[in-house]
Amino acid sequence: MLIYDICNSNIEKSINQLSNILATPIEYLKGVGPHRADLLKKELDIYTYQDLLEHFPHRHIDKTKVNRIEDIHGDTEFIQVVGRLTSLETIGENRGRRLVGQLKDSSGILELAWFQSINWVEKNLTIGSIYLVYGRTGMFNNRPQIVHPEMELYVAAQAGAKNVLEPVYPSTEKLKARGLNGRQIAGLTKQLFSLIQPKDIEENIPVKQLQQLRLMARYEAFYKIHFPPSPEEFERALNRLKFEEFFIAQVRLNLIRLQRHRTSRGLLFEKVGDYFNDFYNNHLPFQLTNAQKRVLKEIRTDTARGHQMNRLLQGDVGSGKTVVALLSMLLAADNGFQSCMMAPTEILAQQHYSGLSELLKGLPLRLELLTGTTKVKKRREIHAALLDGSLHFLVGTHALIEDTVQFKNLGLVVVDEQHRFGVAQRAKLWEKAVVPPHVLVMTATPIPRTLAMTAYGDLDCSIMDELPPGRQPILTVHRNEMARASVMEFIRGEIEKGRQAYIVYPLIDESDKMSYEDLMQGYEQVKSFFPEPKYLISMVHGRQPAEMKQTNMDRFVKGETNIMVSTTVIEVGVNVPNASVMVIESTEKFGLSQLHQLRGRVGRGSEKSFCVLLSGSKLSREGRERINIMCATNDGFKIAEKDLELRGPGDIEGTRQSGALNFKLVSIVNDKELLEKAKTIAEQLLEEDETLSMAENLPLRSFLQKQKGKTGWSKIS
Ligand code: ADP
Ligand code: MG
Repeated sequence: MLIYDICNSNIEKSINQLSNILATPIEYLKGVGPHRADLLKKELDIYTYQDLLEHFPHRHIDKTKVNRIEDIHGDTEFIQVVGRLTSLETIGENRGRRLVGQLKDSSGILELAWFQSINWVEKNLTIGSIYLVYGRTGMFNNRPQIVHPEMELYVAAQAGAKNVLEPVYPSTEKLKARGLNGRQIAGLTKQLFSLIQPKDIEENIPVKQLQQLRLMARYEAFYKIHFPPSPEEFERALNRLKFEEFFIAQVRLNLIRLQRHRTSRGLLFEKVGDYFNDFYNNHLPFQLTNAQKRVLKEIRTDTARGHQMNRLLQGDVGSGKTVVALLSMLLAADNGFQSCMMAPTEILAQQHYSGLSELLKGLPLRLELLTGTTKVKKRREIHAALLDGSLHFLVGTHALIEDTVQFKNLGLVVVDEQHRFGVAQRAKLWEKAVVPPHVLVMTATPIPRTLAMTAYGDLDCSIMDELPPGRQPILTVHRNEMARASVMEFIRGEIEKGRQAYIVYPLIDESDKMSYEDLMQGYEQVKSFFPEPKYLISMVHGRQPAEMKQTNMDRFVKGETNIMVSTTVIEVGVNVPNASVMVIESTEKFGLSQLHQLRGRVGRGSEKSFCVLLSGSKLSREGRERINIMCATNDGFKIAEKDLELRGPGDIEGTRQSGALNFKLVSIVNDKELLEKAKTIAEQLLEEDETLSMAENLPLRSFLQKQKGKTGWSKIS
């Protein structure tokens, strides 16, 4: 038995080595060698055969598609023509020296020009021969011309036209200089395929799913994405590999999620008790929306399961996330656990504290606020009460709660208005207890669905896509800065009706001197429109001491001041239902999600609200587009999608480092349907076989194991 085992493992070892041909360093490929290998590594990140295999062509030349010269019109189109080279001469001197040729087909004449390697080109072309010519056309002296065309003898081209579509690869100037242009890389790829066999490119989608979706086998797809026999086959190959990319990512994310469900011990919130019921029946000032009820149910299910909850709650501005959080905290209290709610700014923490205090009035629960300005004596008191368990709820800023606080039995952490709350931060919270508390992260802004699925796919997601009843849509308009006076008059009218207004300046970086001066100037200007004592103005910005910020904020919240002039410190969460106008200065300097958040500060009461976007008259195309979107819709989910389209996933906050978006072929903007499909299929598969131990799923499992560590996925668990 023992001998058998050893033999067996030896066989396995050598099989492994055999199948590892793709791990071979690229310098061993014939025609590469150490020097070119160095360049391939530096320029294209190609270290191994595998990397070369995954260096996909950016286009294919179709040798059967030939244009007629007379059909060539404007600039910059890629064309391919077949014609006879009728002349070739060098003209000009020194720097102006160039080689000019004429190519003739039955319809006309095309000029060809070379500025470099003239002697070499001249030597390799023969006047009178027929060539297949490919390149980007331009107009020179009113005649069509191709500069540095790709030339191939037509006979040869036809003879070699077994692969009708010839791949051309991304290359760089340095590589071209070393004899590795896009077409020469094709030669390497061709050679690579002569060395490998289908078994070397192991299948990673189970047969059942392959058949169900009519997908090409993996080897075939890799071969045909490089050397497709037809455009249709290319599409099928591309589709297969794109699907694979999403599918593997989805399987991985779902495995992380399921693994957490299975193995992470979590605190058990067994019952719904008196705190919850009393509040729900006697104190809740409104009916919950259906969306709120649904999410609450999800949280209730999560926390009653004995596993740790890690839930991302997405809801548009004003959808009522806070009260969902509070009800969850009451659930924790009913089961003897403490909760904390963390906010991104002091102002918001303060506001949550007063809002929650109001709601909890008359209930025997203790709530405290902990921020940078909490006095030492109070702070000590709070720390002690947290340790002895007499304090049920703590509201504070992120930093404070993460770093210094110890709880007796923390059961629930609510992270408000932030989806950037990363793994490292979550881990810090877990250190606070033997069994990690449940975590509810509430986003500042909806995340596009595709992004949520990829970058946050390891979390459980809840969506609140419904606003409380009675809200009036906010009317958003765009105005030129020149029209500021009339905007001020409009504000005056609203103030006379008893409303309040925000005027926000783009102080992105609080230390930015220029924009700070802009803010001060703006403040003076607003004051001149609205002189004291008839009007009162609050101003809040990041340079003020926290207490001053608070006082100014409080006065506006209480309705003592008419106008709030501020920077983006009021961006998220602030809730003053009586405010009905939001004026945003230099709108072009803000991103879409920020604009949407700012606008969300109004429209919180039952009065009609307005958002005025002021800008200069010179706008970039993207800036104008952002403004148009803002004027066209109030729907945060739609805006998030647009934002993703405009900026691309790499630029959306918090996703860059996640590693979840390092896709080679797919785009989460353009391949939405494929992503949905991959997600569904991955979930179905894992539902049947959560541990991937069925025989048919073993290849997938082994593929995932081999990939581990390679893609940085471990970072997001
Ligand atoms: P956000 O999701 O942006 O954090 P909030 O929790 O601040 O929204 O809620 C916005 C406003 O809506 C608050 O004044 C809150 O009291 C109110 N609200 C929340 N839920 C409801 C509801 N179901 N019916 C009516 N008003 C609600
Ligand atoms: Mg909120």
